[in-house]
Amino acid sequence: MLQTAQAHNAQQTDLAFQQCINADCKATYDANTIRTSCDKCGDLLDIAYDWDRAAVPNKLSDFEQFWSERTNPVRFSGVWRFHELLPFAPQDKLVTVGEGQTLLQQTDRVGDYVGMNHGQLHLQYEGMNPSGSFKDNGMCAAVTHASMMGAKRAACASTGNTSASLALYCSATRLMKAVIFIGSGKISYGKLSQALDYGALTVQIAGDFDDAMLRVREVASELGIYLVNSVNPFRLEGQKTIMFRVLESLGWEIPDWIVVPGGNLGNSSAFAKAFMELKQHGLIDKVPRLAVINAGGADTLYELYERRGVRWNAGRVVMDPIVDYNDKMDREHIRADTIASAIEINRPVNLKKCLRALDFMDGVVRQVPDQDILDAKAKIGEGGFGCEPASAASVAGAKLLRREGVIAPSDRVVCVLTGHELKDPSATVAYHTSDQDVFNKTLGSRGVTKASYANRAVAVPNELDDIIKAIQLYS
Ligand SMILES: *Cc1c(COP(=O)(O)O)cnc(C)c1O
Ligand SMILES: [Zn+2]
Repeated sequence: MLQTAQAHNAQQTDLAFQQCINADCKATYDANTIRTSCDKCGDLLDIAYDWDRAAVPNKLSDFEQFWSERTNPVRFSGVWRFHELLPFAPQDKLVTVGEGQTLLQQTDRVGDYVGMNHGQLHLQYEGMNPSGSFKDNGMCAAVTHASMMGAKRAACASTGNTSASLALYCSATRLMKAVIFIGSGKISYGKLSQALDYGALTVQIAGDFDDAMLRVREVASELGIYLVNSVNPFRLEGQKTIMFRVLESLGWEIPDWIVVPGGNLGNSSAFAKAFMELKQHGLIDKVPRLAVINAGGADTLYELYERRGVRWNAGRVVMDPIVDYNDKMDREHIRADTIASAIEINRPVNLKKCLRALDFMDGVVRQVPDQDILDAKAKIGEGGFGCEPASAASVAGAKLLRREGVIAPSDRVVCVLTGHELKDPSATVAYHTSDQDVFNKTLGSRGVTKASYANRAVAVPNELDDIIKAIQLYS
C-alpha cells in the first residue's frame, strides 16, 4: 500500500528510542530527549528501533533505486540514502551537507605492500567527505537530532576532526552555534584552521583530549548545550552507513575483514551495530571479521582486550581490569602519544560498545608503532590515495595481521581511510623531508628512526643547467 509522505514521517518519529547497553539495566528512554548516558547506571546508550513498524526494504539492492532520486538532497546523501536503516527522524527533518559521497577503492599497489593477493585489498576513502573525514557521517545524524531538540548551541571535545565537522555543519546550515573544546598544542593546523574558518567558538584547554572531554561534558550539562561527541548515540547511527556503502560497492557481497583505526571507538562500535541490524533483518547471512588498530602510543584497547582479556561478556563487562588500568595510567602518568593525533586517546569513551563489536564480529585488536603508521601512509600516498596518519594505522594493522597469518592473502579486506591527507600535512612533510632537524623534532621523539619510502625534494641552484641535470638524473 502506498503511504503518504506525511504518514510515513509520522510513523518514523516514534520508531526510535534510546536504550542502555548494560544487560543488567537495559533502561529505555524516549528518542526525543538529550542524554549521553543512562540515568540509572551511567552506561552508554544505543539507539534502538521498533523494527516491526519500520519500512525496511526486503533486500539490500532495493537501496539502489534511491540513486535515481538524487536530486533530493536527502537521497543524494550517502548517509540518508539508507534512512530506512536509521529511521530516528522524519525525512523533512534530516540535515545534510552532501556527506558520504565516498568510494571503495581497490588497489593492488597498496595490496602488495600489505601482502594480499591481487584484487583483495580495498580502501574505503572517507577523507572525501565535506569536512575531510568520516566524522561527517555521524555529524549529520547528531545535528539532525540536535535541531529536532531545538538546540541553539552544540559542543564537542576534539582531536580535530569532530570539531571541523561540527563547525562545518553549523556554518553550512545556520541551525546552531558550534562550541569546540581542544587540548593545547595537539591539534593539527589543517583541522584547527577548519574550525576557525567555519566560525566556531574555539576553546583551547590547557590539557590533552581527555581533559577537554571531561570539561565539555561538565559544561554541556551546566549550560544545556547539545553534546556531539561519540558518546552521542545518534552520531553512531550515521556512522553505520559507512558499512552500508562498503557493501553497496561490493555488489552487496560481504568482505572477510573490516580494518579500522581505533580512537574513541565510535566507528568500530557503529560498524558492528550496522551488521547486527542487517543480520537481524535477514538482509545478510554472514558477518565480516573486525580488526581495530591502535597506535602503539595510545593502545588502551589493545592492552585491555588482548593483554588483560577484557570481554563484552554478554553485556556484563567485568570492570576491575579496566579500573585497574585507568588507575595505573594515572599513577604512572601514562599519556597517549602518537603522530596519529586522531587516535591519541587514553580512555576511549565507547570502550564497552567496541567490546560488543569485537564479540559480534569475532574481532582482533592490534597496535602498530608510529614508524609503521608513517611507512604505510607513504605507501598509501604512493598508491594514489593519501590520508592522515591515524587512517594509515588500518593499512599498517592489516599488514601486521597478514604477517601473523591472521589475515590470509586470499581474504577480501577493507581498510577504512578515515581522514584526508591534507588534514595533517606537517606529518607528511616531516616524513619526506631531508632536513634532519624537522624529521627529529616531529617524528624522532616518537621513535620513528627512518623514512624508508621518503620521496625527498631535490635541492638545486637556480641555474637552468643544474635544474635540467637534476631532472635527467632523477627521472
Ligand atoms: C576520529 C578519528 C579516528 C578515530 O575514530 P573513533 O571512532 O574515535 O575510533 C580515526 N581517524 C580519524 C581520521 C579520525 O578523525
Ligand atoms: Zn543503564
